[in-house]
Amino acid sequence: MIVTGAACPVIGDITAKLETDQTQQQGGRRDRTGQNRKQENTEKREQDKIKGVKRGLTLMEMIMRNGLFQTALCLVGISSPVNCQVNWKNGKNIHHQLTQQQGKTISTTEDLTYFANNLINERNFVKNLDTILIPRTVGSEGSRKVRNHIIKEMRRVGWSVDQHAFEDNTPFGKYTFTNVIATLNPDAPRRMVIACHYDSKLEPRGGVFASDSAVPCAMMLNLAKTMREELREQKKNSQDLTIQFLFFDGEEAFKRWTSTDSIYGSRRLASDWEKKPYSHNGVSGDHNDRIDIFVLLDLLGARDMTLSKLETSTGDWYDNLVRIEQSLQQRGLIKGSSIFNRNFLPAGIEDDHIPFKRRNVPILHLIAYPFPKQWHKMGDDRSTLDFERIANFNKVLRVFVAEYLHMNT
Ligand SMILES: [Zn+2]
Repeated sequence: MIVTGAACPVIGDITAKLETDQTQQQGGRRDRTGQNRKQENTEKREQDKIKGVKRGLTLMEMIMRNGLFQTALCLVGISSPVNCQVNWKNGKNIHHQLTQQQGKTISTTEDLTYFANNLINERNFVKNLDTILIPRTVGSEGSRKVRNHIIKEMRRVGWSVDQHAFEDNTPFGKYTFTNVIATLNPDAPRRMVIACHYDSKLEPRGGVFASDSAVPCAMMLNLAKTMREELREQKKNSQDLTIQFLFFDGEEAFKRWTSTDSIYGSRRLASDWEKKPYSHNGVSGDHNDRIDIFVLLDLLGARDMTLSKLETSTGDWYDNLVRIEQSLQQRGLIKGSSIFNRNFLPAGIEDDHIPFKRRNVPILHLIAYPFPKQWHKMGDDRSTLDFERIANFNKVLRVFVAEYLHMNT
């Protein structure tokens, strides 16, 4: 990934929404005064929210389901009835409302302990990490080994795995790239996507690039393994929404980061999915429309890793990560300083999310910022990692996924 300059269109996009975000943050600061009243306040706010939702339910719900424009069309009777109902395409809007405002958050000590601590298996994380920690440049023997490991592990926990292979031109000629797509329930129309890249940089030669992105890949394998039973239950209970992992090939530039020499795997997948129609219960769209939220993990695991909010459009989801981490800290379920900062940073980072963001997929970009000190250096190896912090991240991520998928203990 790369931090772009002022010319980057991403920066303008984010700044335009900065005002709204600052207002939210100020609200957050006010709420933090008076720590002991915090719990009461939170409960009261939740009750008020629920009341508010109930009061204006018909219109509000309609807007959340369909968006403002569609709702207007429904109200004046221009739109066909099928567009005025919840469907797989507008489902993510109402899903957001349900999770945020109708108390489907995981907040009891029992549930937090269960997902964060009872399911923990950091030995499994380390095992996966050590398998991935080899040079794995596009088309190399290491790449094949790591890809096969990912496929094997994902199949072992019962997910369906596809390989998305294609050829593309690079500054060093034609290469074959292979993305790995693992889906818990391929029949579910909507997907919560978590993504990382498994390729490593060509230079410096022999580098294993732990934070970039062996750790994120191992975190995802660990999540699938530790939540295996809970996810199996979720698959049985929900026909509508599932979880999907994308392991991208060719994120790194071969020579120098340009629009054609970088993010090969994600560029091709987003473009292929755009061309691939999808229809469910009479509502049609393309395969990118099936993505509820696109969570991208990158540059994670180094000693001082801290994250900030990088996208305002999914700001509420980022705030959930902050809240989950705080809840775990308050209960002593995680130790050490916070990973998730409350602040919003208009950083303009180019990464695998860009091709999907350009196609209006909601993005949650979880990348350490500032970048790790050893970023793109030989020193980005096992010795630069903070395993306690990684374990904390894994805990927060489990709770976040459990909340998103409305899981029960
Ligand atoms: Zn990189």
